[in-house]
Amino acid sequence: MKVCKFGGSSMASSETIKKVAAVIRSDDSRKYIVVSAPGKRFSGDIKITDSLLNTFAESKKGGNIHALLAPIKARFVEIAEGLEVQDKVDLESIFKEIEAGIAASSIPDYAAAQGERLSAMLLAAYLGFEFVDAKEVVRFSDNGSFNAEYTNDVARKHLLAKESGVVMPGFYGSTSVGQIRTFSRGGSDVSGAIVARAVKADIYENWTDVNGFLTADPRIVENPRKIPELSYRELRELSYMGANVLHPESIFPVRKANIPINIRNTFEPENPGTMILPGVIQHDRLITGIAGKKGFVSILIEKSMMNNEIGFTRKLLSVLENLNMSFEHLPSGIDTMNLILSGSEIGGKLQELIGGIREAVSPDRVEVQSDLALIATVGHGMAYRPGTASRLFTALSRAGVNIKMIDQGSSEMNIIVAVKGDDYERAINAIYEEFIN
Ligand code: ASP
Repeated sequence: MKVCKFGGSSMASSETIKKVAAVIRSDDSRKYIVVSAPGKRFSGDIKITDSLLNTFAESKKGGNIHALLAPIKARFVEIAEGLEVQDKVDLESIFKEIEAGIAASSIPDYAAAQGERLSAMLLAAYLGFEFVDAKEVVRFSDNGSFNAEYTNDVARKHLLAKESGVVMPGFYGSTSVGQIRTFSRGGSDVSGAIVARAVKADIYENWTDVNGFLTADPRIVENPRKIPELSYRELRELSYMGANVLHPESIFPVRKANIPINIRNTFEPENPGTMILPGVIQHDRLITGIAGKKGFVSILIEKSMMNNEIGFTRKLLSVLENLNMSFEHLPSGIDTMNLILSGSEIGGKLQELIGGIREAVSPDRVEVQSDLALIATVGHGMAYRPGTASRLFTALSRAGVNIKMIDQGSSEMNIIVAVKGDDYERAINAIYEEFIN
């Protein structure tokens, strides 16, 4: 049995939803369906989730949310009419309830979730499947963190009891007192994975608008090759570093149950897409993919004899903990340590962070460099094979790219380099040419 998640571009209009329904109807084992809110129909269009979040922001300012909800409602009415289900879903009264709900909310989650909720109701009506509200199935703790084990038990009982096919909204759930909470953006992927684990699916199909994972970002490398198969761990490394086909957290629920994920294209259903599998995959190629992100900051901390100072790293990291900041890498040398953090994590608190470091470890010198990019070159194929790192560095040096930091974990499946933001595109192309093309 299969769990299928359809993303925002698949749910964007009644025409695309008919393609979704054709995919579902072509295979009886596609019984559990999870959907996103309607996304963009064309470039420049606005995602329903963004419109809903704008409405919430306006409500906080005391603005007229009725006017902002009107185009959102119009879009759902158009979808309902296109699918000829306008008599089955009472959008009029649901929108009254949504307006009151947003006005009464202190956090954006309720507003953000409504796109998924309506999208699932309309698809369920069109298919003749049962609508199951995610607030009954997906549980969050009161502090907003996802409660995985409780959800798994409840979801299993709730979903396996259904005779017919089921459509569930992605992206949200509720706390024990019924308050709506969402995952981070793109979180319907996580909801699909939760359902796949709960019903012990044979496969989790994630239907989107591309033919799967690419070996590099197509905005940087021209026509990059597709990745037919990759492992959970390669997926984690690539998606954490910015390959954004799938939400980086979707792996956790399915990994617990060893369920393969198949990325598929609603608009090219005959394409087999990318298969993501447990374990280690032996590719012929050394490198599976390249991903990266810009916007990192490096903080160099120098202090004589720091290596002998017991507790130095703990004191340094407690500064981050007190500021509620996480870091990405911490390469160290003799008398130096380098904190690499993403700029968004630091926000406007750089001076506070540096002040805290000076106070906690009394360094001889602190030097900040912003606008760094991190690039991950990922693949099980490079483990235990000498020469990969040297080829990587030679390719970068040939392209005139200076490497600011190197980090290779002992699993040997990922080499991360930091380069100047300006060198980012050139570096990715150089690595791609060396290993993939
Ligand atoms: N609709 C939500 C978003 O735009 C969640 C999702 O599509 O997965 O982020």
